[in-house]
Amino acid sequence: MDIVRHWIGGAEVTGDPGRTAEVFDPATGEVARRVALAGAAEVDRAVAAGAAAFPGWRDTPISRRTRVLFAFRELLDSAADELAEIITAEHGKVVSDARGEVARGLEVVEFACGIGHLLKGGHTENASTGVDVHGTRQPLGPVAVISPFNFPVMVPLWFVPIAIAAGNTVVLKPSEKDPSAALLLARLWQRAGLPDGVFTVLHGDKEAVDGLLDHPDIKAVSFVGSTPVARYVHQRASAAGKRVQALGGAKNHMVVLPDADVDLTADAAINAGFGSAGERCMAISVVVAVGAIADPLVDAIADRARAVRTGDGRRGCDMGPLITAEHRDKVAGYVAAGAEAGARVVVDGRDVQPDADGSGFFLGPTLLDHVTQAMSVYTDEIFGPVLSVVRVETYAEALSLVNGNPYGNGTAIFTNDGGAARRFANEVEVGMVGVNVPIPVPVAYYSFGGWKDSLFGDTHAHGTDGVHFFTRGKVVTSRWPDDGHRGVDLGFPRND
Ligand code: NAD
Repeated sequence: MDIVRHWIGGAEVTGDPGRTAEVFDPATGEVARRVALAGAAEVDRAVAAGAAAFPGWRDTPISRRTRVLFAFRELLDSAADELAEIITAEHGKVVSDARGEVARGLEVVEFACGIGHLLKGGHTENASTGVDVHGTRQPLGPVAVISPFNFPVMVPLWFVPIAIAAGNTVVLKPSEKDPSAALLLARLWQRAGLPDGVFTVLHGDKEAVDGLLDHPDIKAVSFVGSTPVARYVHQRASAAGKRVQALGGAKNHMVVLPDADVDLTADAAINAGFGSAGERCMAISVVVAVGAIADPLVDAIADRARAVRTGDGRRGCDMGPLITAEHRDKVAGYVAAGAEAGARVVVDGRDVQPDADGSGFFLGPTLLDHVTQAMSVYTDEIFGPVLSVVRVETYAEALSLVNGNPYGNGTAIFTNDGGAARRFANEVEVGMVGVNVPIPVPVAYYSFGGWKDSLFGDTHAHGTDGVHFFTRGKVVTSRWPDDGHRGVDLGFPRND
């Protein structure tokens, strides 16, 4: 059986043959290949490759680094279909959705192509007599990017292009559940002219992650995954003295005011709730229906949910399987718990008949009405195709529900009232807000990040935050000997 290997020093590396994990095709339920799991020796080897490549890459002129970025952009664009097929085969999301993920990753590469502009510092002439000052931003060194299963291409590309463009070297630790796309990215970087060792792929599980978090040569960690692991990564890497951004889980609410357009809102709820089988950190999980719109809205969502074609993502279906059998069973367990606690199961995905061969990990679109804050289906991140409708009477109740939630990744309001939408955007304690936009993932030149338990650290991903994260500031104050030289003076330097 095929083994997905590490990519170290510009070539595939087998690693310890004793430690591997299964990689499934979630649409058929079969084990398609295995993936190498790094131990301490592979972690050392990967970081050493990054450390050795760093001095040369740091000093490579920005013009040449930019050329590599532009070449990578073209290669990535040409390989988009191939990447999408790999994503669908290991993650399960439908091919068109996988293609969309590649397109959003490509946007970050395009942003990073402007690194010359993004790294420009300030310069002050005559800050004091005969003294000039300039600020510059320099790369950190080898950095680690640790990514989740749900976006095997886009999430690595939130960080890797900017880190590399800024002069760092990167060790990517992809999810062990869908590891193959990362290897194709490595080959594309190499073909784009990136020197060996600047981009490394280290496959593995907790052991590899811990090795990277503790390694003295790793200077920064960008993590994306579930909240408990994000919190742990933030604490452990911070304790080791590293710069850390750790993006966690989510529970995204869509507030629907009584004046909203029912059809537009129902379409949005379906797309944001069931796209990628709900396995998106920006998926809508809770629809908060305010007042009398609840009944027509639930009917409209239910009609659409019943029409969603669930099956193998390669067959033109709307929605694919979940990532593993365990995860599918866990999500189905939440539906059962919700029903037991009094929620009304309007559409039940547990009896789905998928368009697929074998025994894939399917659960159909599920709609629960009359969900309350006490139910586990409301409190927990489910990460599956389950939409919960919570009914409230007022905007104030809706806002307090969203702000009372420990997560703060994304949210949306649906209304035709501009004043109400503006007020919501101002008052809501969430990092990314949509107004009649259900999945408000910012464009690459803005930054992506949630608040509260959805992000540990203070820097969001990509945009100017990304450039700041992968560089550190330095200020140079210079004076060249001339007539103004005043000899020995032990007083603190004054600017005059
Ligand atoms: P996960 O936390 O299980 O795994 C993420 C990464 O951490 C993987 O590379 C995994 O190998 C590693 N890992 C897992 N357990 C670990 C442990 N105990 N110690 C050290 N490393 C560990 O997450 P997942 O299931 O792969 O991804 C889904 C989660 O990611 C969801 O919670 C989702 O909301 C979140 N997510 C968040 C964002 C965001 O931007 N905030 C984006 C995508 C996904």
